[in-house]
Amino acid sequence: MKLNGKKYILDLSLPGVGQLFEFERIILERKTKYQHVLIAELKSFGKALFLDGVIQSTQRFEFIYHEALVHPALITHPKPEKILVIGGGEGATIREVLKHNTVKRCVMVDIDKELVEIAMRYLPEFHRGSFYDKRVKLEYMDGGRFIEQCKEKFDVIILDLVDPFRGSPAEHLYSEEFYKKCFERLTSDGILVTQAVTPIFAPEIHRSIYLSLKRVFPIVRPYYTFTPSYLTLWGFILSSKKHDPLSLGMEELERRIKLRGLNGKLKYYEASIHKILFKIPKYIGEILKL
Ligand code: SAM
Repeated sequence: MKLNGKKYILDLSLPGVGQLFEFERIILERKTKYQHVLIAELKSFGKALFLDGVIQSTQRFEFIYHEALVHPALITHPKPEKILVIGGGEGATIREVLKHNTVKRCVMVDIDKELVEIAMRYLPEFHRGSFYDKRVKLEYMDGGRFIEQCKEKFDVIILDLVDPFRGSPAEHLYSEEFYKKCFERLTSDGILVTQAVTPIFAPEIHRSIYLSLKRVFPIVRPYYTFTPSYLTLWGFILSSKKHDPLSLGMEELERRIKLRGLNGKLKYYEASIHKILFKIPKYIGEILKL
C-alpha cells in the first residue's frame, strides 16, 4: 500500500493491531503449495521474509529471536548431541544449533520444500550455509506426521513454527496431543522449546500453549524478549524432563558457553541474559495466572 508517497507492507497478523513496514523493493513474491511467500528489502530492517502476510525474520534483528529460541535450551542440556527442529524454514535456527560443538546430528523438518529452496537461494544471510552442513538432515513433511512416524530420540526438540493463528498450517503443532508425542521422542533428560507468540497481543493463545505444556512436562519455564522485527515482546517456552534452566549459576553458564565454543559467536545470548530471561514480570504472571 502507498501512504504519503511511501510504500508499505501491511501485517495484520496480531489480534487488534496492524503494522506497516516501509519497503524499498520486493525481491520475490510466490505462492507455494502451503503459503504465500514474500521477500522484501525493508527500510529499517533490511531483507525480510513474510509468510501469508506475517513478518518472520528480518536481516537486522533475526539474531535476537533465533539466539533466544535456541541457546537457553541447548545450554540447559548438559550434552546436546541430537537435535530436532520442526519448522525453521529460513535456516537461521539450525545455524544457531550448529554453533554448539556438542551437536552431532540436526534434523530439520519443514512442511514446505519450495520455501526452503527459496531460502537457500534468496536468504543466504540467514542460513549462512547451514543447510549444507554434514550434520544436518532435511525432511519435508508436516511436523505432526514426522513425530508420529519417527523412531529416533532427541536431546532437544525446537519448534520454530508459524504462529497458531487462524488457518495456520501449524495450528495442530501447538496442542497438548502434539507435545505428548514430542515428549515420547525426547531422551530421558530431553528438553523442548517452542516460540509461544506475543503475550501482549495474544495473551490467551500464549497462556493456552503454556497450560498445554504444563500438562505434559514436569518443568515448564516461559521466557520473554523484545523482538524488534515483531515490534513487541515475544514469548518462548522451555519445557524439560529433568534439567531446569533456573538451576544454572553464572559460573556454570559461562563455563558451558565457553566449552561449547560459543564465545565470540553470539550477539544477544550470554550468561547474564540467561539469568534475567526467565524472570517473569508481574503483569505477565497475571496473564499466565501463576
Ligand atoms: N524463524 C522464523 C522467525 O524468525 O520468525 C519463523 C519461523 S519459520 C519461517 C516457520 C516455518 O514453519 C516455515 O518455514 C513453515 O513452512 C513451517 N511450517 C508451518 N507449518 C508446518 C508444519 N505443519 N510442519 C512443519 N513445518 C511447518
